[in-house]
Amino acid sequence: MTGVSTDWTRRAALRVGALTLGLAAETAAAHPLAATPPEQEREDDHWRPAELESWAIEPPPPLAADSEYPLAAAFDPACSCNYSVNGITSYQHVVVHTMQGSYSGTKSWFKNPDAQVSCHYIMRSVDGEVTQMVLDKDKAWHVGSSNATSIGIEHEGYIDDPAKWYTWETYVSSARLARWLTTRHDIPVDRDHILGHVELPNQSHTDPGAGWNWDMYMGLVQDVVPQGQIQVAVVDRSKLCTITATVSTYLQRTAESTDLLTAPELCPIAAGTQVTYLHASAPIGARRRLLMEAGQGPCAGVNGLDAEAFVDPTHFTAMCAPAAMAAVGATVSLDGGPGLAVDANGFVNLPPVGPGSHALDVAGPGLYEPAADMVDLAVYPGVRVAIAVDPVAVEPPDPTGGETGGGETGGGETGGAGETGAGEVGGEVGGEVGETGLPDPTEAPTSGPDSGEPTTADGSSGEAEAGGDEAGPPVLSGAALPEGYGQNDEDGCACRSGAGGREGWLAAGLVLLGLGRRRRR
Ligand SMILES: [Zn+2]
Repeated sequence: MTGVSTDWTRRAALRVGALTLGLAAETAAAHPLAATPPEQEREDDHWRPAELESWAIEPPPPLAADSEYPLAAAFDPACSCNYSVNGITSYQHVVVHTMQGSYSGTKSWFKNPDAQVSCHYIMRSVDGEVTQMVLDKDKAWHVGSSNATSIGIEHEGYIDDPAKWYTWETYVSSARLARWLTTRHDIPVDRDHILGHVELPNQSHTDPGAGWNWDMYMGLVQDVVPQGQIQVAVVDRSKLCTITATVSTYLQRTAESTDLLTAPELCPIAAGTQVTYLHASAPIGARRRLLMEAGQGPCAGVNGLDAEAFVDPTHFTAMCAPAAMAAVGATVSLDGGPGLAVDANGFVNLPPVGPGSHALDVAGPGLYEPAADMVDLAVYPGVRVAIAVDPVAVEPPDPTGGETGGGETGGGETGGAGETGAGEVGGEVGGEVGETGLPDPTEAPTSGPDSGEPTTADGSSGEAEAGGDEAGPPVLSGAALPEGYGQNDEDGCACRSGAGGREGWLAAGLVLLGLGRRRRR
C-alpha cells in the first residue's frame, strides 16, 4: 500500500473539466428502496442520504477482526441486514463500482440498516486504502441478479470526474485487490470476468463509466506478482538495452496520460536521447515500465525516474527481446539455498517465501562475476527484481584496441550502477508497489501453490507463449510470457551487444576497474 509516493494535490487543478462524459450520474433521482420487495436481489443504486456526507466524517471505529484481504486497512463490516451470510454460490466476477460518493460516507451507509445495499470492499481515492466490509463468502448486495456470483469493489468518487477520482493509487490498489481475488477464487484474469457494474446483466447503472482506464487497469492486474513470489531477471550488463527517443517525450512516474502528471512526476527528454534499461514490463495501458540502473541515464537524480519509469513506447526506437539481454548460464540462490538457473530470457521464479528480507546471490562460474542483492518482500504481493551481472574477463580470440571505446560506454553505464543497485530498485519499489516489469509466468489463478518451482533455461522457453492460457497449469519459465510482452515484435533491438569476443573484452575492462559490483544492503 505504500510505495510510490504521490502528490495527491497535484490532480486538483489538472483535472478540472478533464472529461465531460455526458453519462447519466448514478445517483438515482428517486430512492427505489421502498419499492424493492424484500426478496428481490439487491443492487447498490449508489443513492446516499444527502446528510450522510456530513455526519460520515467520523465513521464508527472498525472492529478488531482481521480482514481477509491482507492489504485492507480494516475489516469494518456492513450491517448484517445489508448482505446475505454465506450467500455466494460461485465466484464468477470481480465487479468495479464507483461510489458516487465519499469513502467515509459509503462506509457509513453500508453500516446503516436503511441502506439495504453493501459491497465487499471499498477504496479511498487519494491513497487506495481498502476497507473490507463483507466477507468474500457472503453475498453483498451490489449488482442485483449477479450478487451471488460477484465480489464487488466500490471506488470512491464520481463517474463524471474520473480524472479527479480515478487516481493512480486507486488503479494500483484496485488491481492488486482484483488480482488477489481472482487468485483466491480461481477467477480468470480477463475482461469477461473483471467487469464494471455497467457490464453485468440487468443493470441500470453506468459505473465506472468511460473514464475508467480499463487497458491500464488490466495491465496492472496482470502485472501483479503472486504472493510470496520473487521473480528475478538476470541481465548481462554488457547487453543492456538502449532505446532512443524519436520525439521529445518523458520518463514518467505512472502509466497514466502525461497530461495528468505534474513536473515532479515527469522527466522531459529530447528527441535523440538514449535510455538504457534492464527490464521492460508488458504494456500497462499505453505505457511500459522500465527498470534501470539508478544513477544513470538522462534522468539521474530526478525523483527516482532514473531507476524506474514509465515510457510511451511509440516515442522510442524498438525495445529489446528479453533473450537478447539475458545472462544465460547464471543461477540465483535464495537465502543461501541452491542456485536456480535462469531461463533463456534470464528469468527465474524463486521458491515461495514469507514476507521480510531475503538474500539473492547470483552466480555464473566462468561466465559472470558474482552479484548479491537483498529484497524486502511485502506480505502481498510478491516482487520483481532485475539484477545486472558483469561477464567475467575472457581471453579474446582476436583482441583489438579499437574496442575499448565501446568499453568506455559500458563503463559509464556500469559505474554507479553497482552502488545504486537496480536490483534494489526492483526490490524496494517493486516490492511495495508490486508493479515492476517481469512478465508474470503464473497467470493462472490456480498457480499459487505450485508457483515456486525453479525454472531452467531450455530451448522451449521462447515458444510457449500460449502459456497465456489462463486455465492451464502454471508454467514457470519465461515460456509463459503474457501476450504482448514483445518477444516476437521487438526485432529492432538496440541492445549494446557486440559481436563475438568483443563483449568479453568490454566486460573485462569493467571488472578490472572494479565496477559493477553490487552492494549488499
Ligand atoms: Zn455500481
